[in-house]
Amino acid sequence: MTGIRLEHLTKRFKNQVAVEDVSADIRNGEFVVILGASGSGKTTILRMIAGLEVQTSGHVYIGDMLVDDYEPRDRNIAMVFQTYALYPHLSVRKNIGFGLKVRHVERSEIDRRVTAVAELLGISETLDRRPSELSGGQRQRVALGRAIVRDPEAFLLDEPLSNLDAKIRSSARIELKRLHSQLGQTFVFVTHDQTEAMTLGDRLAVMNHGRLLQYDTPERVLSHPTNRFVASFVGSPEMDFLEGSVEPTGGSYTFISGPIQIPVRGVGRPGPVTIGLRPWDITVHQAAGAGSVPARVAGVERLGSSDQVFLEVGPPGAPGPGGLPAPPLTLRALVRSYDFEVGNMVSIGFDADRALYFTADGNRIESMSAPTRVG
Ligand code: ADP
Ligand code: MG
Repeated sequence: MTGIRLEHLTKRFKNQVAVEDVSADIRNGEFVVILGASGSGKTTILRMIAGLEVQTSGHVYIGDMLVDDYEPRDRNIAMVFQTYALYPHLSVRKNIGFGLKVRHVERSEIDRRVTAVAELLGISETLDRRPSELSGGQRQRVALGRAIVRDPEAFLLDEPLSNLDAKIRSSARIELKRLHSQLGQTFVFVTHDQTEAMTLGDRLAVMNHGRLLQYDTPERVLSHPTNRFVASFVGSPEMDFLEGSVEPTGGSYTFISGPIQIPVRGVGRPGPVTIGLRPWDITVHQAAGAGSVPARVAGVERLGSSDQVFLEVGPPGAPGPGGLPAPPLTLRALVRSYDFEVGNMVSIGFDADRALYFTADGNRIESMSAPTRVG
C-alpha cells in the first residue's frame, strides 16, 4: 500500500485539453474521490495513474517512485472500470483469478486467494456461475474481487456504482467504505454523483473542464467552496444565489437584494456581490412577520424526509421591457415535509452567519466574514 502524487499533470488529445495542470497528493490509505460532470477529465486522470494513457506533461509518482516510464503492469495498481469488463464466458472463480493466472501464480495459491476474496465480498456462493447469472451488485463485487485478489498498491475505481439500481447503491457505498477500512489501502474513486462523493471520500477533488478546482474534505468543500462552481455543484438541494450589493448602514454593512436585507458580519466591502445560501439555511414561516421578507410558495417537491419549496420573493416585479412583469426572484428552501402548499403566502428568514460571498467572476470572498471590527 502506498500513496500517489500527481505533479502538474496535463493531457491533450489533438487540440483538446482533457486534463490541465492537475497536482494532488493522495495519502497512503486515503479514500480520495474525484468528482466532476461527464467530460471533466476524471477517467483520463485514472488512466494516467494506471499508465493506460501517457500524459502530455507532468509526472505521476506511486509511493516515492516516479513511474512515468513504467508500463501499466509494472505499476501494481488495480483499476475497476465502469462497465466491470468481466469475461462473459468465464465463471466468477475464473474471472477473479484471471489476473493471477496470466502472472503464472500457482494454481493452489490462486484458489486460496480467490476463495478468501469471495468470502470477503460475500459472493462465495456465486463462484461457479457466469457473469450473466449475477445481479448488478454481484457483478460489481466480482469486478472488485478481481482487483483485490492481485493485492495491488492502490485501487482506481471508475464510477463502479453507477450501473447499480438506486436502491442498492446506498448499501453498496457502505460496503465499499467497509472494504476500504478493512483493506487499509489507497482508493481513488471517480464519480459524477455528489452524494456518492460526500459519503465516500476522505477528501474530494472537484474537477471542471479538466481543472482541479478544489481538493479538500467533504465538510470543507461544502462549507468553504473555493468558488461558485464548486458551491453549486456540491450540496443538495443546490445552493441559492442572490445578486445584490453590500451597502454601509450606520456602523455596519448590509447586503441588499430587492426586498432582502442580510447583515454582513465583520468588515464589508461596499459594492456588488453575490451571496450564496444553502436551502437549509433559509427559514420559512407561515405568516408574514414585521420586518420579514414576504414570499409565495410557487412549488413544492416532496423529498420524503423533507420538502424542497420554491419561493417567489417579494412583490411581483416591476414591468420589464415588454410591459410584462419581470420574473420574481425564486429561491429554494428545505423545510419539514408537508408544512407548506403551493400558493401559501409566507415569510422567509436567512441565517446570515452561514452566507457565502462571491465576486462577479465567481470566486469566494474570504474576508467578508473576517472577525474584524467595522470602523
Ligand atoms: P470524464 O471521465 O470526466 O467523463 P474523460 O476523462 O473521459 O472525462 O474525458 C475528458 C475529455 O477528454 C472529454 O472531453 C473527452 O471527450 C476527451 N477524451 C477522453 N479520451 C479521449 C480520447 N481517447 N481521444 C480524444 N478525446 C478524448
Ligand atoms: Mg469517465
